[in-house]
Amino acid sequence: MSEAKEGRKDTMLRKPNNIEDAPNGGCTLSYKCPSCGTTTVIKLTLDEALDLGAGLANRKPIQDILPGKTPTEREVMVSGLCPKCQDDFFKEEEEEEDEEA
Ligand SMILES: [Zn+2]
Repeated sequence: MSEAKEGRKDTMLRKPNNIEDAPNGGCTLSYKCPSCGTTTVIKLTLDEALDLGAGLANRKPIQDILPGKTPTEREVMVSGLCPKCQDDFFKEEEEEEDEEA
């Protein structure tokens, strides 16, 4: 019974609250959770940052643009929700907890 998030196929990313350049040429995105205010940090490598720019321009879905990110990380970029609030919002939709940052 997977109730997928239908109807929002377009790549709509939330604007990060802060963007910092990373030493490796990538960048660090900070998202403040709209629900609880917790800041979640997503790190992009240079390749990922380039893929993101190109992918958004081509309106590719985020999972195709950044396949190396976990669903949780991608959801942060889409909704800004921290992992904890995502759990509350999408209970049991994903059963992946073995990812390491
Ligand atoms: Zn939250």
